[in-house]
Amino acid sequence: MTALLTATDVTRVYPVKTTQSWLTKRRSLRAVDQISLELRAGQTLGLVGESGCGKSTLARMLIGLIPTTTGEVSFDGKPVNAERNAAWRALRRDMQMVYQDPLGALDRRLPIYQQVREPLVIQGIGSREEQHTATEEVLTSVGIGSDLFPRFPHELSGGQRQRVVMARALVLKPRLLVCDEPVSALDLSIQAQVINLLSTLQKERQLAMLFISHDLRVVRHICDDVAVMYLGKIIEQGPAAQVLSKPAHPYTEALISAVSHPKASQTSRKRILLRGEPPSPIDVPTGCAFHPRCPIAVAQCQAQTPYLTHIDTGHTVACHLRASLNHQQVVNAC
Ligand code: SF4
Repeated sequence: MTALLTATDVTRVYPVKTTQSWLTKRRSLRAVDQISLELRAGQTLGLVGESGCGKSTLARMLIGLIPTTTGEVSFDGKPVNAERNAAWRALRRDMQMVYQDPLGALDRRLPIYQQVREPLVIQGIGSREEQHTATEEVLTSVGIGSDLFPRFPHELSGGQRQRVVMARALVLKPRLLVCDEPVSALDLSIQAQVINLLSTLQKERQLAMLFISHDLRVVRHICDDVAVMYLGKIIEQGPAAQVLSKPAHPYTEALISAVSHPKASQTSRKRILLRGEPPSPIDVPTGCAFHPRCPIAVAQCQAQTPYLTHIDTGHTVACHLRASLNHQQVVNAC
C-alpha cells in the first residue's frame, strides 16, 4: 500500500542566543534532525522518547503547523508546507490534531455542540441540516449524549472534554489524525476508555494515526509501529510488538526497563539507569549522540555517527554495535 504521509529528511533548526561570561553567541538548536518516515492509511505509528526529544515539533511539521528548515513532507502526493494558503487549508481538512490539554484546546465561552460544528461552518461544508446531523453523529460516536450538547467545557469531566476534542477533530472526516499525548492529562481510569475509543474509531475509519506518547504500555496497545526519538533523531523504528518486546537500541532498552510491570516480581527484567540527563540539543555530542549515557559505548561511538540500518523486516536501528548483528543475535545480546 502506498504511503499517505511521507517525510523525507525533515530538519527543524532554531537560532538561539547563549550568554557565557558576558559573551553572547548565536547558536543553532536542531529540534528535529533529518527524519524520514512514512504512514499508510489505517496504520498507527507511535512516536516515543523523553520530553524535549523533538516529538511534538516533528508532528507539527508533518501537518504544516510549523515549517521545515530543510526536507520535504507530502500528503497524498501533495507537498505540505506551512504557508497559510488555500492549498494548505484544503490539506488541513484531511489532517487533524488532538492535543494533550483538552481544556486548552476548547473555547471556554462556547457550548460544546457549537465548537464541534464550527469546523464545518468555517470550511463551508454542507447545509445547516447536514452540519447538524454530522455534529450529532460524531458527538454520539465518541460517547457524548445529547444532554451534554449545550454544556460548556468547564461543565464536563476531563474524559468528556477529550472526547469532545476528538469529535471536533473527526467531524471533518480527516484521513490523518495526529494525537499529541492525548491521555496524559487524564485519570488512569479514563485513559483506558479514551484509548479504546481512539483505537475503535481509527479502525472503523481507516485513519492513519501518529500517536505521540511517553507511555510505552499505551503505545504497545494501540500502535502497529513505533519510532523511538533521541535528541531530534529516530534511533530505532519497527513493528511495535517487536521493538517493545525485543529492543535493539540501548536507549530503547532503558526506556522499556523503566516501565513498571504488573508482575515485576515475576520477571527478570532489571531497570537500566542511564547516566546523567539528555544533553542540550544546542550541544549535541559528537558521533552517536547517546554515547555519554550509553552503558555499552565503545571508542568508535564518540567518533562516528551511526545511521539507521535494517536488522529485521521493517526493523531498523542506529547503533554501531547492534546494527551489525541480526535480530536473533540482538535478542541474545540484550
Ligand atoms: Fe551505544 Fe555506541 Fe550504539 Fe550509540 S552507537 S547506542 S553509544 S553502542
